[in-house]
Amino acid sequence: MQQVGTIEEPRIIPRSGHTISRKHISEHALKVLYRLKKAGYQSYLVGGCVRDLLLGHEPKDFDVATDARPEEVRALFSNCRLIGRRFRLAHVFFGRNIIEVATFRGQSSDGEGERTAADDGRLLRDNVYGTLEEDAWRRDFTVNALYYNIDDFSLVDYTGGLDDLRAGVLRLIGDPDTRYREDPVRMLRAIRFAARLGFRMHPDTEAPIAQLAGLLEGISPSRLFDETLKLFMSGYAVPTWELLRQHGLFGVLYPQTESALAEEEAGFPRVMLARAMENTDLRIEQRKPVTPYFLYAALLWEPVRLRMQALMAADERLGEVMALQIAGGEVLSEQLRRVSIPKRFSLPMREIWTLQPRFAQRRGARPLRLLGHPRFRAAYDFLLLRAESGEADPELAEWWTRFQTLDADEQRALVQPAGKRGRRRRSRKRKAPASGGDGQA
Ligand code: ATP
Ligand code: MG
Repeated sequence: MQQVGTIEEPRIIPRSGHTISRKHISEHALKVLYRLKKAGYQSYLVGGCVRDLLLGHEPKDFDVATDARPEEVRALFSNCRLIGRRFRLAHVFFGRNIIEVATFRGQSSDGEGERTAADDGRLLRDNVYGTLEEDAWRRDFTVNALYYNIDDFSLVDYTGGLDDLRAGVLRLIGDPDTRYREDPVRMLRAIRFAARLGFRMHPDTEAPIAQLAGLLEGISPSRLFDETLKLFMSGYAVPTWELLRQHGLFGVLYPQTESALAEEEAGFPRVMLARAMENTDLRIEQRKPVTPYFLYAALLWEPVRLRMQALMAADERLGEVMALQIAGGEVLSEQLRRVSIPKRFSLPMREIWTLQPRFAQRRGARPLRLLGHPRFRAAYDFLLLRAESGEADPELAEWWTRFQTLDADEQRALVQPAGKRGRRRRSRKRKAPASGGDGQA
């Protein structure tokens, strides 16, 4: 394979030789491409959208590459904002749709702009502008470095991406060790694309990961949060999770979870997580909305549970709810050192945890109060998940499933009067049990 930076003639595939049709390109992306071209700039679609179009998938978003500078792009579009520090980009807005326009970037330090690397080889800033071919070589994977030229509708391939695409191979461009050190997040991207595209990693791309996994510790927790969303919320959480664990990356992101899993490989924490990930993937396939806090609640549950047990063993007076509060706080703050979780997700996640002991309180007014809790649905779905994986009592989960389907009188009949211990009366008018959800409705 060619070395980064050397210039070689690209392979150009004319319109008649490939399957990308303008019918499949968003009208907004076409508008941007044509406007740039009319103004005399080069303009190409690049990255995931070209890859996905060639594979017959619907692209998530459309990225444009051009030789126009960000300021020049802004001058062309009134609906445009410049963003980013590490990479300066132009965002062109069409209502809620954004087309990302990036200026070609170069590899060499003698280009214009700035390029800053840390001592360990990590790229801190990468605003060196360059040519189309330089832009191709600094991208991550060969299948992500294909360009669709709006000028003549041809495809441009500098790095052998088309052959790799046909062969189903994910190959990092250039020397893998160097490229992973420059940006360790590329390791996560390798796993994500391998899982999502069903591609196998080229051996040279795969081999260094186990050894370099620890470099992710140097990546900011907020960037890693963004990455984990893409890892687990894109419809391929199950294969992604398996690959992350196989390559020693999961443990860097979620050390507490990894050690809980490693302790009991076949136990319920693994079953529970696998189910939570399956549910998430299924919902995405069915185009139902998903929220990350449910999955995060599942990811950290076993560390929280173990911590809670340890706290209660150390202090007999500590109640379950209190122990859970403390354990949740401790596990979360430990986790935030690696991967951040914004408050809008961590608050509901902790609520799901602290509501769990309340499901055991089935007497008096408590069940109805719990039923009225704004987070009831998610907490109940979490209880189902726990029961299905053998960690919580299935009878308890069934009781709550039935309880919800009853009318007010029947509910009152089902709960025992507060304080009195008696035989629980079962309603004879039992309705069909509610279909189990998974907390992401
Ligand atoms: P997705 O379909 O998930 O959006 P994508 O390939 O478009 O996948 P993006 O994160 O949108 O991924 O990035 C767009 C393109 O930018 C990539 O295809 C790749 O060419 C380049 N790129 C993104 N991140 C990196 C990186 N860390 N190092 C090198 N190139 C990158
Ligand atoms: Mg993209």
